[in-house]
Amino acid sequence: MSKIILTGDRPTGKLHVGHYVGSLKRRVELQNSGEFDEIYIMIADAQALTDNADNPEKVRQNIVEVALDYLSAGLDPNLSCLFIQSQIPELTELTFYYANLVTVARLQRNPTVKSEIQMRDFQASIPVGFFTYPISQAADITAFKATTVPVGEDQAPMLEQTREIVHKFNSVYGETLVEPNILLPENSACLRLPGIDGKAKMSKSLGNCIYLSDPEEEVRKKIMSMFTDPNHLKVSDPGQVEGNPVFIYLDAFCKDEYFAEFLQDYSCLQEMKDHYSRGGLGDVKVKKFLNAVIQSELSPIRERRHHWEKRIPEVYEILRNGSITAEKKAAQTLQDVKQAMKIDYFSDRALIEEQAERYRQ
Ligand code: ATP
Ligand code: MG
Repeated sequence: MSKIILTGDRPTGKLHVGHYVGSLKRRVELQNSGEFDEIYIMIADAQALTDNADNPEKVRQNIVEVALDYLSAGLDPNLSCLFIQSQIPELTELTFYYANLVTVARLQRNPTVKSEIQMRDFQASIPVGFFTYPISQAADITAFKATTVPVGEDQAPMLEQTREIVHKFNSVYGETLVEPNILLPENSACLRLPGIDGKAKMSKSLGNCIYLSDPEEEVRKKIMSMFTDPNHLKVSDPGQVEGNPVFIYLDAFCKDEYFAEFLQDYSCLQEMKDHYSRGGLGDVKVKKFLNAVIQSELSPIRERRHHWEKRIPEVYEILRNGSITAEKKAAQTLQDVKQAMKIDYFSDRALIEEQAERYRQ
């Protein structure tokens, strides 16, 4: 069986370092491993509209931003198909058919949808499209017959729901769809990177992000203002490492080589953590080191971004060609689905014959 990747991002803002460690960096590694037969990376504009229906301009503006972030992170349009969700009408059609296989109660139980509804303060006014987006996500994944979906931890319930839809579809209509596997980051700090404000998740919608496209000085300011251990008042105080965003970021980004390069006092992160826990290590010193680490990670991305920012029409052309390729694949799956569901009337000669025969008698 082919090994196929499908993943993507909502164009609700520029991509941040949480996206990078949670999914984007891994995609680039997987792309460059050469182990996958097909790779589809989707800008999920239709999904973004489910909770931004009154602000289409925001979605429209951010498409090119996300595309620039992709290209600057190292996604290569010759190896990965970069496309825009709304340009593939087959996805909407699949969603409509899958919707019959999911109950309202099951959607209500989806923990990610639950917490997102709470976060957006929708209460009784949840848009139907938003409520059902896990179904459309199942359409996105299965349309490409994806076997592997590299995403952050918040997407685990979506994958679970997709697998259920695949089971249900295949058991009702016969073996048609492919069951996907989630691929979570191996480094646990990358599963759900917290915000610079210490909130559980760095998220475009919460405005607590370090963006991949932030200039050097902006990144430095954000890091120096980061939330740390609130009880670590004096340098001599013992500090708390667990749950401290500065150390979570170091867990996510730091390699031992960075100590040799920027801070020879320690040889590895554990030594630094031990010092912080004992007391005697100030937050400013830790943050300065974190800044050096993150700048090292971001500087090649920034350089590639400058390259692509001068070639915007080319970026749209990449998305257009990607959307054409993606649609071909999705159309094939939709054809398989309609055949399995027996709604392929005009290509079913046996059906036409059978009906004609019935009336001949
Ligand atoms: P929104 O607030 O609009 O939902 P978002 O910041 O949650 O935006 P998405 O586009 O929903 O971003 O998510 C894209 C991908 O990035 C998903 O795979 C998600 O799991 C991953 N991701 C998002 N935020 C984080 C984070 N803080 N840490 C790790 N992975 C993340
Ligand atoms: Mg999200």
